[in-house]
Amino acid sequence: METVSFCRICEPTCGMIATVEEGKLVSLRPDKDNPVTKGFSCPKGLEMVHVVNDKDRVIHPLRRTSDGTFEQISWETAISEIGQRLRAVRDRHGAESIGWYVGNPAGFSHSHGIWATGFVKGLGTKHLYSANTQDTSSRFVASALIYGSPLVIPVPDVERSDFVLLVGTNPLVSRGSIMSGGNLREKYNGVVARGGRVVVVDPRRTETARAYEHIGVRPDGDAWLLMAILHVIFTEGLADSKAIARQSKGIDIIRDAALAYSPEAVIDRTGLPAHEVRQLARDLATAKSAAVHGRTGACLGRHATLVNVLLDTLCLVTGNLDRPGGLVFGEGPINFASFGSRIGAASYATAHSRVGGFPEVIGHMPAPLMAEEINTPGPGQLRALIVSAGNPVLSVPGSVELEQALHRLDLQVAIDIYLNETHRSADYILPAATMYERDDAVLVALDLHLTPFMQWTDAVVPPRGQARPDWEIIDDIARELGFSPLAGLPLSAFVPKRFARLANKLLSPLNGRLTPELVVDLLLRSGKDGDWFGLRPGGLSVAALRKEPHGRVLAPHIETGRLRSRIKGGRVDLADRRIQEALRRLANEQQPDTEYPYRLIGRREIRTHNSWMHNTPKHLDPKRRQRALVNPKDAAELGITDGDVVRIISATGAGEVPAALTDDVRQGTIAVPHGWGHGDAGWQIANAAGGTNVNAINSPRVEDLEPLSGMSHMSGVPVRLEAAAR
Ligand code: SF4
Repeated sequence: METVSFCRICEPTCGMIATVEEGKLVSLRPDKDNPVTKGFSCPKGLEMVHVVNDKDRVIHPLRRTSDGTFEQISWETAISEIGQRLRAVRDRHGAESIGWYVGNPAGFSHSHGIWATGFVKGLGTKHLYSANTQDTSSRFVASALIYGSPLVIPVPDVERSDFVLLVGTNPLVSRGSIMSGGNLREKYNGVVARGGRVVVVDPRRTETARAYEHIGVRPDGDAWLLMAILHVIFTEGLADSKAIARQSKGIDIIRDAALAYSPEAVIDRTGLPAHEVRQLARDLATAKSAAVHGRTGACLGRHATLVNVLLDTLCLVTGNLDRPGGLVFGEGPINFASFGSRIGAASYATAHSRVGGFPEVIGHMPAPLMAEEINTPGPGQLRALIVSAGNPVLSVPGSVELEQALHRLDLQVAIDIYLNETHRSADYILPAATMYERDDAVLVALDLHLTPFMQWTDAVVPPRGQARPDWEIIDDIARELGFSPLAGLPLSAFVPKRFARLANKLLSPLNGRLTPELVVDLLLRSGKDGDWFGLRPGGLSVAALRKEPHGRVLAPHIETGRLRSRIKGGRVDLADRRIQEALRRLANEQQPDTEYPYRLIGRREIRTHNSWMHNTPKHLDPKRRQRALVNPKDAAELGITDGDVVRIISATGAGEVPAALTDDVRQGTIAVPHGWGHGDAGWQIANAAGGTNVNAINSPRVEDLEPLSGMSHMSGVPVRLEAAAR
């Protein structure tokens, strides 16, 4: 039997056809009839069939025994004991001593994030951590400062653009992040085919840079480069003053600051010839339309929030914000920013971390602080931690400290599909369903689709063994503690008042207990494309989408001219004092420490995803092992050749990785993929693939986190290199 569904590993959410035999998923192939992804997928998506059927998956609740191994227990026992132990921690130390870490895959489920957020809010703790501080928080903060909501994030209108500037992003490998565009190679090729240009700013000649034009900026030099581009635009009279006046306030602050950053003045920071930067600025400003987009490379530097503000500012000052071919504000059938704000998840700086005093970002605190939060005595000391769909020991800087700290917890619970490196110290492991074993809709991607689109999937196969959808597990633990994660939310969080009566009819037979399907249905039906509970036939509902399993395209392009209604106050606010502080920090940045002359950057790989997807049969291939990219001239100075192991030493840690020599990386730069360093966990192929945990090198120190977002510094980290002993 064939069933239509879609992949939920990353933003494209590629359409998939699943073949199921006797209740088992036997193969996946790209769905040619998906109107957006049109038969596109990547190797990771297809390898999910092995993840679903993996013999190493956790498919029964497990409890740690006194000899350190795990034993199988029933769900009833697991939930009851976890509830009992959490209640004991809460009674003794207060609810604020209980925390939650949510991994990246949770973001691609319709319910995981909503239920986990409801859990910590219902419990009354601010210890909510996630992969965001290793990925996106600085982008959220930039949006909070300039648009008034962390969840309003514009996307590049690639299909209509004449010039796309990509900063620290490698979409031919990542497939696009914080934007969802199906086959992006086709779309960027389309820009060039129309006579336009795609320019990639990156310290490495990435796969995307190779395909288009490359500007090889020095690692962590983005802030200086963007200020230099703005300098040229302002001083050469290239700014669109009408657009600036119409759409923003506070541009003087950026303009005045940019005067100090001529391309000539920042050569030592950007590593780029001044004439190249000047030409780039002129080309960007005079293009018929242009879009600027940055991702993890831009989000993980020392000035990450400022960099994200400047990326959007470049579009604003060139008249490319909220216009076809520029940076545009998507609004899906569920207005995610508005929903986030109604459930209290679109917040910034409403609370601060106990250690370091960092502001929360959409309710999340900096994950690198978890070890110190566990180790630091006093009210609010973290004593119990639930980790769902995550592996912070591999994905969060300071992994050595975190691994040690986890052993000091009174209780550690995992909700996951594998027993990973973090869960080795867990007291309980609760088996979660995979994406093909649950119904779903990717709510976070709805505002990010370049072609507005909506798709619903039912579960393709039942969960293996005793695995269950994450939301049910979270719900059950919460109920053991005496509350329901969503019970505190009024109906108006899901539907506007005018639909309350109709929505109530739907809810009353269920006694108000919300399921993810019901939540999505309420949001869809009352949304701008909804069926308004029958008042608008043909509108969206889960039932309507079930009849269109390949999904429904809602418009050919994102509507423009929406800025005023989409952002708080109707104008981009560049006058926030925190932007001024960020500009001052940039101006005062000291010259690099000569003790650590190299710069460590990250690298996304086509066949792996963060710290998972390393346990598929294809990873038995030794060619898939982790490698550090090193420039041949650096290698010669270090006395190493291809395949030799290089030792990478930062101010806080060290690690060893075999080198692959390539002039794709600038001299002085070393590129190492994250998510490796497996060993002694429950996944045999991943254990054998091993690798080095780059987060044993990256710093968790308070002074190394970006002050506005608590973002980890993982791009351009100062390091020293040595040839390792053979
Ligand atoms: S690009 Fe690959 S991993 Fe991402 S959604 Fe598509 S198939 Fe899945």
